Order: sequence, then C-alpha cells, then structure tokens
Amino acid sequence: MLEAWLGPKAVALESRGLTRRLRPRGSGDLAIDLAGNDYLGLARDPRVVEAAVAAVREWGTGSTASRLVTGTTALHAELESALASYTGHEAGLVFSSGYLANLGVITALGGPGTLLVSDEHVHASVVDACRLARSRVEIVPHNDLEAIGKVLAERNEPHALVLVESVYSVLGDAAPLAALSEVALQNNAVLVVDEAHGLGVTGDGRGSVAAAGLAGLDHVIVTMTLSKAMASQGGIVLGPPVLRDHLVNRARAFIYDTALNPAACAAALAALRILIDEPTRPDTIHTTAARLAQACDVALSAGAVVSVPMPGPREAVHAAEQCLASGVRVGVFRPPSVPDGISRLRLTARAGLTDTELDHACAVLGELG
Ligand code: PMP
Repeated sequence: MLEAWLGPKAVALESRGLTRRLRPRGSGDLAIDLAGNDYLGLARDPRVVEAAVAAVREWGTGSTASRLVTGTTALHAELESALASYTGHEAGLVFSSGYLANLGVITALGGPGTLLVSDEHVHASVVDACRLARSRVEIVPHNDLEAIGKVLAERNEPHALVLVESVYSVLGDAAPLAALSEVALQNNAVLVVDEAHGLGVTGDGRGSVAAAGLAGLDHVIVTMTLSKAMASQGGIVLGPPVLRDHLVNRARAFIYDTALNPAACAAALAALRILIDEPTRPDTIHTTAARLAQACDVALSAGAVVSVPMPGPREAVHAAEQCLASGVRVGVFRPPSVPDGISRLRLTARAGLTDTELDHACAVLGELG
C-alpha cells in the first residue's frame, strides 16, 4: 500500500532534482565545514565538552521528566538567568529545542483574540506555530513595514504578534528591528523576534535585539536556539517575568515535553561563559563571512550566513559535490526550504577556521564561477 502511495511521489521529486538524502558524517571527517551552524566554533571546544561530560556524571544521561515534574535542574535555572542577563531580558524559559520555543510562545499567546502577522521568510517552526495557534494569520511581504502597519491597524482582534527573525536563516539578511518595534508599539502589538542566527553573532554576541536597544521592552519577546552559536541543543524564550509565568502554565510545547537534557544545559552555559570571556569571537565570524561573500561575489551578510543563488537545484547539488570533492562542505538549500524558490548554496562562517582553511575554502568557492 505504501509503495503505491509514496512511490510516485518519490519519482516526481527525483525528476525535479529535489530529493533529499541523509549523508551520515564520520567523526573524523576532515572537510572544512561551511555548512553547519557552529558559528562560534565551540561544539568541540574541550571546555564545552568537559562541561557536558561533568553534567552527565552529576545528573545522569536524561532529564527524567518534563520541566513541571522532575525535569527542572539547577542547570536549567542557571542557564535561564545567565542567558536572560547576557541578552538584557528580565527572564528566560528553556525549551528542549528552538523549534519548540517558537511553537510554545506563539501558541500560548495565540488564539481567536490574537492576530498573528508573519513575515513571509520566517522559519518553518514559526509557520507551524501559526498553523497550531488557532489565530487568524496574515503573511506579509518580507520586511514590509507598511504592510505590517496596515494589517495591525485594520484588525479586530485585541492582541497581535508580529513574527520576524533578526537575521534570516536562508538569505542571511537582517530585519529592520527598530522600525518593527515602533510599528508594533504604535499598534498595540507585541514583536516576537527569532534570534536563532543572532545570538553569539550580532550585537557583539548579544544579538540584534540587544544591539537595537530593544531588549527588556514590555512589547518585545525574543526566542533563541542553543544549537548554533551555543554549540548545544535546546531553545529559550526571553521576555518579562509575566510572560515566563504564562508559558510555564500555558505553553504545551513546554509542559508536555521532556525537559532539555542537563548535559545540553551545561554545554550551552560553558559556551556562553566562553563568549563572555572572549568577546571578540563574534568579530571573527563577520570577517570570515566577508571573505566568503567576496569569494562568491555575493552581497555581505548581516550575520554568519552567506547565501549564494544558483541557477537550479541540480546545479546547486553539483556545486556542493564539487566543493566536497575539494575538501569543503557547503550547505545546499532547495525548494521548499528556500523562501524565494531559488536554490542556493548556504555557507556559514565560523570562528576558529585557520587562515589556511579559509584561503583554501575561498579558492574552491572562487573556482565555481
Ligand atoms: N528558528 C530558526 C530561524 C532556525 O534557523 C532554527 C534552526 N534551523 C530554529 C528556529 C529551530 O531551532 P532548533 O534547531 O533548536 O530546533
């Protein structure tokens, strides 16, 4: 039955060059990684690794239950206050992924009385949250302040959330956060900013919301993942204590999910400490991103992501294979993972690349034409 059902779908996907395949990576893989999101280069840092190992020894291998049962450890509490204070917010609540942080906060504030205004380029987790929230959803053109103002002003719902990313995950461009905050405030709406690609990268590491002076405002909520610059797993929602309390009581993605593994909390805490102690690490990301953008002759990105449009999905896959054959691993994004439908190479800059590695990567990318 499943062969007859799914087989033709697989054939159709293949004929368009859009089949996705898992390629397990070996731990000794020597390729220069420009595909992962380990922006600060900390995922194998001995201090982060040791913190995770020590947490496993102290707390065991699992968190044992959901946060409201036995899953909240001292490490969760420490991570929440450390990240809130680093990014300039009053409170934080850790979820077991960035995906669930977005699902949790948007569904807990959503419902028939809340309009959701979503930028057309937001991440799939925000899209899915909109689908689950039982709210009316308005999708607006990318970074279109006027369209946002219009739908907010014309709404009947008492509440509204404006959903954006600080640095967009595929195109790597930035949201006009100060103006977005202003439009939201004028229209009695809350701005929700996904800083998955901002934490550890923009605003000297504190993210774009902090850099714009918006952290801690009563109408601004931030979500972050711990899986990129923080070299771990997990997610967090940051905002005022009243929001945190609401989420603890209402966010289904928080209440019914097993708590984040304590080892992941410890790894993220260790990464955050390194970022605080070595505040120039984010600078390296930007200089590396600039070199990669120059090698590919594309615009400078707002963060670590360098987006290189390709003529089509097959060309993108072929170019990535060519790079890998030359020892450089790059990301390939094809529909439906690209907001504008254009297949592309997605390169990510990482602190900790040696000059030799970067020179080699730029030479390989330059040869792609
Ligand atoms: N938001 C954005 C913008 C992302 O890029 C990602 C990860 N790709 C997420 C949320 C989800 O985070 P996580 O991987 O921690 O679930």
